[in-house]
Amino acid sequence: MSYKAEHERSIKDPDGFWGEQAKLIHWEKPFDHVLSYDKPPFAKWFEGGLTNLCYNAVDRHLQDRPDQIALVAVSTETNQEKTYTFKELYEEVNRMAAIYKANGIGKGDRVLIYMPMIAEASFAILACARIGAIHSVVFGGFASHSLASRIDDAKPKLIVTAEAGARGGKAVPYKPLLDEAISLATYKPEKVLIVNRGLTEFATVAGRDLDYATERQKHLNELVPIEWVDATHTSYILYTSGTTGKPKGVQRDTGGYAVALAASMKHIFCGNPGETMFTTSDIGWVVGHSYIIYGPLLNGMATIMYEGTPLRPDAGIWWELVEKYKVSVMFSAPTAVRVLKKQDPAFLTKYDLSSLRALFLAGEPLDEPTATWIHGAINKPIVDNYWQTETGWPMLAIQRGVEVMPHKFGSPGVPSFGYNMKLLDDATSAELGPNQKGVIAIEGPLPPGCMQTVWGDDKRYISAYWETIPGKLIYSTFDWGIKDEDGYFFILGRTDDVINVAGHRLGTREIEESISSHPNVSEVAVVGIEDKLKGQAAIAFVIPKDSSNFSTLEAECMKTVDGQLGAIARPGRVYVVNALPKTRSGKIVRRALQAVAEGRDPGDISTMEDQAVLAQIKGIIEQNP
Ligand code: ATP
Ligand code: MG
Repeated sequence: MSYKAEHERSIKDPDGFWGEQAKLIHWEKPFDHVLSYDKPPFAKWFEGGLTNLCYNAVDRHLQDRPDQIALVAVSTETNQEKTYTFKELYEEVNRMAAIYKANGIGKGDRVLIYMPMIAEASFAILACARIGAIHSVVFGGFASHSLASRIDDAKPKLIVTAEAGARGGKAVPYKPLLDEAISLATYKPEKVLIVNRGLTEFATVAGRDLDYATERQKHLNELVPIEWVDATHTSYILYTSGTTGKPKGVQRDTGGYAVALAASMKHIFCGNPGETMFTTSDIGWVVGHSYIIYGPLLNGMATIMYEGTPLRPDAGIWWELVEKYKVSVMFSAPTAVRVLKKQDPAFLTKYDLSSLRALFLAGEPLDEPTATWIHGAINKPIVDNYWQTETGWPMLAIQRGVEVMPHKFGSPGVPSFGYNMKLLDDATSAELGPNQKGVIAIEGPLPPGCMQTVWGDDKRYISAYWETIPGKLIYSTFDWGIKDEDGYFFILGRTDDVINVAGHRLGTREIEESISSHPNVSEVAVVGIEDKLKGQAAIAFVIPKDSSNFSTLEAECMKTVDGQLGAIARPGRVYVVNALPKTRSGKIVRRALQAVAEGRDPGDISTMEDQAVLAQIKGIIEQNP
């Protein structure tokens, strides 16, 4: 199959193309139309069709593969490892769904899931889908304030939690944070269901709190019929990571999402039924929703849920799991690879990785040194892919399942089927040609699987995403990029990260790429700050590999940039730091760095992992004006 022709068909004939892809899933009742787009930008996919995500992920496989492993739950924190066959997963999901039903949860009700990476979290998610309830998973690393604002937005009737998670050998309490969040929130859930792992003591609220083990016992042999829902029925709400500000509640449908994921498993990830997929993300992020829970299971693959760090008991643990469960498709993030990069590569080569076909990475720019290092260590194709919580599945990737295509360093590849991607000049809105920098936008309709709207706020959906490019109704990704003659995209950073130095527009990503090629730089972030002379100037923050020897690093980084990009891009200062401020999903919070460098208040930093890092950097700047 030719990628180019097929992609063109997916844009010109969405009904024909997606009508065919729809055969990848089960429809209880066929849909009336493939696409309804009479009220742009709201696209409806497969309207009138009845289906169910849980049925497609679990029940459908009972016929062909009941005894095949569906779920592997591994915790290197509690030293537990448990596998569930499709039949066992089916039984557990039914028990969870029965608990929901007994507590008055039904179609359209919200269930907030605030849980660590344990098997019960996947039962909780799939049980929602089974009965048509809407799940909203909140990353376990968030504390009370972040959780409270999501409770108020999603208004869940039920919250499912565990008393604690575990990280780095220590129990991390969840229940007290949840109790505090509920008291902070205006909206109050009726019930809280707690999986007690026996890790910490916790207080309960009589009449509200339920013990999962006790409830499960009451419904051991109960089967809950599938609630067939319209393809356009909302399956979940998921908040964006909050890298650039207040998170947005992304609302997803059912049928379009199932079809898009199934198609992505075929065209991009190339996993086959009966194989194992290992995605090292968290269920609190979109990658976890799409490629820990739904994608692999829809495709009849086993999925691994992993609780723990990539370094315990040692840096070989992930690769040990690849060997043990014959993982064929692995998905992680550049930030995780950078953690491994500080370790001996021998940990990675110690295991038999012959089952593994490719390692997919997404979530942030994949810099060349990181890509080269991991490729050298595991000797497998490294597949960068670019997408957002909003899109639900990759916008850009090498379409491995469609055609053999060369990889290009620094590029996540070409548009996936159904994505009509454009590069636009942000001032004139004109469409740009090859090798011109612009805003990455998607012309509507968004393909199946992408967000339906912002939860409860259609107006915000339009104004925040579709009306930011003057004179055009077009979806903005808020990312900045460039496309080459072969149609490969390169991501240059977020639109807020574009800096204007004396009339030259530079992506901070380009400067970061250049600095990271210095042999003593392990990580770098570049921001633009106000400059009286040039309008803006670049400022860099670098973490050295060898922190005992960095006296000349600033001058050397400047020289590197001069040589590669020209003096115009040279940072005004290069600060040597020992950590960078990151979101809990591992992304650098450049807006906070910029605020600190400009001597401003960094604003809302509640999604940040370690707030002390920013204070430290502030100190360094103040000492070296
Ligand atoms: P928020 O929207 O709340 O500020 P966020 O954008 O970080 O947070 P996500 O949806 O998790 O939330 O991340 C999507 C963004 O991550 C993309 O818009 C892009 O900036 C970045 N990104 C994802 N994958 C890649 C990639 N392969 N290369 C470069 N950047 C990427
Ligand atoms: Mg975003």
